[in-house]
Amino acid sequence: MRLNDTDAMGMAARMPLEELRGMAHRVRCQYYPDGQASYIIMRIVSYTNVCVADCSYCAFYRRPKHPEGYVLSNEQIFVKCDDLLACGGSLVAMEGGFNPYLKIEHYEQMFRAVRDRYGDRIEIYGPTIVEVIFIARSSRISVDEALRRMKDAGLRWIPGGGAEILTDAWRRRLSPKKYTVKEYLDGMHLAQSSGYGTTATMVIGFGETWEDRIEHLRHVRTLQDETGGFASFLLWSYQPDHTALGGARLADDDYLRAIALSRLYLDNIPIIRASVLTQREGGAKALLYGAHDFDIPLEDQVTELAGARIERNIETVLGWVRNAGLEPVKRAPL
Ligand code: SF4
Repeated sequence: MRLNDTDAMGMAARMPLEELRGMAHRVRCQYYPDGQASYIIMRIVSYTNVCVADCSYCAFYRRPKHPEGYVLSNEQIFVKCDDLLACGGSLVAMEGGFNPYLKIEHYEQMFRAVRDRYGDRIEIYGPTIVEVIFIARSSRISVDEALRRMKDAGLRWIPGGGAEILTDAWRRRLSPKKYTVKEYLDGMHLAQSSGYGTTATMVIGFGETWEDRIEHLRHVRTLQDETGGFASFLLWSYQPDHTALGGARLADDDYLRAIALSRLYLDNIPIIRASVLTQREGGAKALLYGAHDFDIPLEDQVTELAGARIERNIETVLGWVRNAGLEPVKRAPL
């Protein structure tokens, strides 16, 4: 039976973690074999750090004309992709915020260049939907046209970043220029109906309540009921260092509880992904709390500059998973 918001609140607030874990793990094993967890090696390439979104939780961006602002050339992006392939990776997430100088033509040539050079050897996760909305507006075209032109250039995926916490109160506090919940969901709906694969994400640890988290999950589940367009749901945690927002790092138990609740609530999403990037060994442990998939990122500047320590030794990360009693199984991009 589907979990309603009242029951989800009760479980989040009162159910012993071990009991929640048992329930979530049983559901997780309906989607993926017990004793195994899937993973992919990837990197996030931030092709520019020039951004006018001013997110209060971000330590990465530079305002226009800042001397440390940059835009990567295609050649610099190729070096990163070559390195990814050499390490056994197969997914590059290309993200860059709200750069007012880059118009749709820049994105078309960039995605076309990467697709032409690598074909299907590397899958590309493109800009988040909030970035697509920004690109469309600054290029004076519709979001529909921006999506179509990027798709024609070889892009197939719009990942779920930019959602953070899907309540308007938190969006105003974290990223007031990153559009409302409705605009976010309408944008994802449009991407899904335009033939893109999409993922859903949630970021926790800002000080949000369980009501806020459950509202976010409800938006994701409702859109998924309508479209079936989310391939997976990734839960990761805010990193507070060097940010205007500040705050403290999320405790593992809070993360594990949220993973378990996400597995139980999102009964229409097949893959729950844990974050070893932000929770390290706690992320590996989450593979026993309802998640069954994880990324091994070789690069994520946005998260690193806010204090995450990326473990670049792939065997070390796989060791965390084996220590949790699970056999890691490499998967193809999806
Ligand atoms: S999180 Fe992304 S959109 Fe927000 S300020 Fe940083 S680079 Fe810009």
